[in-house]
Amino acid sequence: MGFIRSRSAVAPLRRGIAAVPAAGSTPVRRPTVGQAVALHRPEEPMHCIRPAVLSDTARCFVAAFDAAVAGDVLYAVKCNPEPAVLRALWEGGVRHFDVASLGEVRLVRQMFPQAVLHYMHPVKGRQAIRAAYQQYGVRDFVLDSLEELEKIREETDGAEDLGLVVRLALPKGNALHDLSGKFGAAAAEAVTLLRAVRQVAPRIGVSFHVGSQMLDPSAYERALELAGGIVAEAGVVIDVLDVGGGFPVSYAGLTPPPLGDFMAAIARGVAKLDLPAHTRVWCEPGRALVAAGVSLVVQVMKRRDYVLYINDGVYGSLSDAGVPGFRFPARLIRPFAAMGDAAPAGFSFYGPTCDSADRMEGPFHLPADVKAGDWIELGQLGAYGGCLRTAFNGFDQARLIEVADRPLLETPGHTVLVRAA
Ligand SMILES: *Cc1c(COP(=O)(O)O)cnc(C)c1O
Repeated sequence: MGFIRSRSAVAPLRRGIAAVPAAGSTPVRRPTVGQAVALHRPEEPMHCIRPAVLSDTARCFVAAFDAAVAGDVLYAVKCNPEPAVLRALWEGGVRHFDVASLGEVRLVRQMFPQAVLHYMHPVKGRQAIRAAYQQYGVRDFVLDSLEELEKIREETDGAEDLGLVVRLALPKGNALHDLSGKFGAAAAEAVTLLRAVRQVAPRIGVSFHVGSQMLDPSAYERALELAGGIVAEAGVVIDVLDVGGGFPVSYAGLTPPPLGDFMAAIARGVAKLDLPAHTRVWCEPGRALVAAGVSLVVQVMKRRDYVLYINDGVYGSLSDAGVPGFRFPARLIRPFAAMGDAAPAGFSFYGPTCDSADRMEGPFHLPADVKAGDWIELGQLGAYGGCLRTAFNGFDQARLIEVADRPLLETPGHTVLVRAA
């Protein structure tokens, strides 16, 4: 799998990995998505990174979390580890990173020697723990079992400068991607763990994750109440309270409550816990920081009625459009022919692989006259898009460019459906 990277629409096309300009270098003039399509006529899926949008989003989120609870924002790297994305977030003031593998530890440390890394996977390999601590300066580790605590103690040679955070299990929530079953210590076990980490670490805390694309602000308040009960029962002082990620973004046909509602719920929940003044609140947003910052341009290979065969799919950057059924805002790009004034219609997509599961139900709203050869831009694909690409069936090439556009959101005109019987 590889990305074809180009600095801007005026740079020559480059195959393989080419550098994206570093922050602080001379400003590049970025093309619009439409200009880039006209120039490259891309036959591969084209990821369009909006560095300014990413930086602005990060700046707003960091400011909102600071205003709510004066806490630290840890970017969940798994959501989009693309270096250009990480650089834009750093530019927007993100200094803490939630990393979950040695690969993520290395990537972020190599890019930002000053970054604070928090190893937030509750089940880590021994060599990964050792390398993270000894070579990469990681001090904070999450855990949800006594076995993991033992591993961390052994692989850090009984270090006395650790931050140990106990991941709590939450009751099954109503997030679109429910993560409640996989990780986390149940209440009684969490009490035991909190007492155990208090014996060995100068900095301890609790964390939870309400689940991705959580649409209900009160979920954070409920989780905080549960966390408070467990901490009180353990009878320990905590230094860190980590409310996790899950902050939602809009997709086609779905508008979540504003971010401010989530911040207010967290502020209320934290205030009720009556924590010692030194306790630091963390959060771990992924999706909310990066979704709007990247779109994907695909090409229509064939049309059959209201089904479009496109050059990317569920084994590429569109896995969320498969079984999870996400609908991304869409717009037609047709640089070399008239746009026409066709009314919008709903389309479903097939991806390029030979697997019939490579199907995206949608509906995706596009002008009714969309045809083979047209390009389509799909918005809100910065989160869990490009990083999930596979090389299945040889469709392993994608292009990566930086653009000047604002986020591609749903256009109001596209809410009317005209679908042939
Ligand atoms: C995936 C993950 C996140 C990020 O979740 P988003 O829904 O993208 O905000 C944060 N914390 C943990 C522990 C995760 O597993």
